[in-house]
Amino acid sequence: MVVVMEVGASEAQIQSVIEHLNRYGFDVHRSSGVQQTVLGAIGVKPDFDVRHIKVLDGVADVYRVTEPYKFASRAWKQENTRIDVRGVTIGGDEVVVMAGPCSVEGEEQMEVTAAHVAAHGATFLRGGAFKPRSSPYSFQGLGEEGLRILRGAADRHGLRVITEVMETAQIELIYPYTDVFQIGARNMQNFSLLKEIGKTDKPVFLKRGLSATISEWLMSAEYVMSQGNPHVILCERGIRTFETYTRNTLDLSAVPVVKAKSHLPIVVDPSHGTGIRNKVIPMARAAVAAGADGLMVEVHPDPPNARSDGPQSLYFDQFVELMQQVRRIAEALDRTVRAPERVSV
Ligand code: PEP
Ligand code: MN
Repeated sequence: MVVVMEVGASEAQIQSVIEHLNRYGFDVHRSSGVQQTVLGAIGVKPDFDVRHIKVLDGVADVYRVTEPYKFASRAWKQENTRIDVRGVTIGGDEVVVMAGPCSVEGEEQMEVTAAHVAAHGATFLRGGAFKPRSSPYSFQGLGEEGLRILRGAADRHGLRVITEVMETAQIELIYPYTDVFQIGARNMQNFSLLKEIGKTDKPVFLKRGLSATISEWLMSAEYVMSQGNPHVILCERGIRTFETYTRNTLDLSAVPVVKAKSHLPIVVDPSHGTGIRNKVIPMARAAVAAGADGLMVEVHPDPPNARSDGPQSLYFDQFVELMQQVRRIAEALDRTVRAPERVSV
């Protein structure tokens, strides 16, 4: 931690800050210029609240030089984390595509969607059985019946399952049906859920909160990892800004920032990130170009009649177009996007 004293801070103020730092257990290195004094506080205290020092008289500013998270940090683990999900690696050379509707609505919808996305190179089937809706009057999901439908469709087409868990009480129910637990944006700081999911052995897909900083997001990953589960996949899904032409603002700069700060894989969700169907393909292209390890996209056989998020769901032919385009971008970066299945005639 670096403490910068105000220009003209008195010797008494400087001594008082040094005493406080010592009392909190830091060793202090003082360097005094003609006008200003800077104090270097040495000591590993990830949970130290820098405001204890910021509020002292004569202090101009305080900077952290170590991150408050450990297991999630690049400093702790230099090489990229690769997460194997039944033969598909997230965080390796392949850009993994997770596709499917916002909500599981029925057998037919999931069967045709799974067949289509698998044929064009997706390796995960998404779909919510428990939905965090902005309105309590909106469709809340099919619950366990939805999980059964999702698992069945995924298995028939060689796909892995990713679905959202909204509360700790659902973990046991969802566990046998899913390959990856999704924690939704609204639950990113549900610390009891993060801790419980951290005690399981399945990968966790942690969406960024609507107004979360990257540091807060990584602290949430830390919650999961601190309980023993190292398999965390981060997902940038757009944050709330003053812009109104899109549902959220997709923060693609989070991709290189996360890559520098953390070893965890990062997936981008341009569907929730923009909220508008015709913005999804361009932002999917940009996400791959920025270095994302995967994409999560909403695809529906009949978007105008979807029970949730229809306006941001791709039509089937748009999904094909997306896959063709991101495949070319991945190749330019020496990465891959799975090839479509050969259709036998
Ligand atoms: C979803 O993936 O359907 C979803 C609800 O996402 P988010 O938590 O990012 O809003
Ligand atoms: Mn959705």
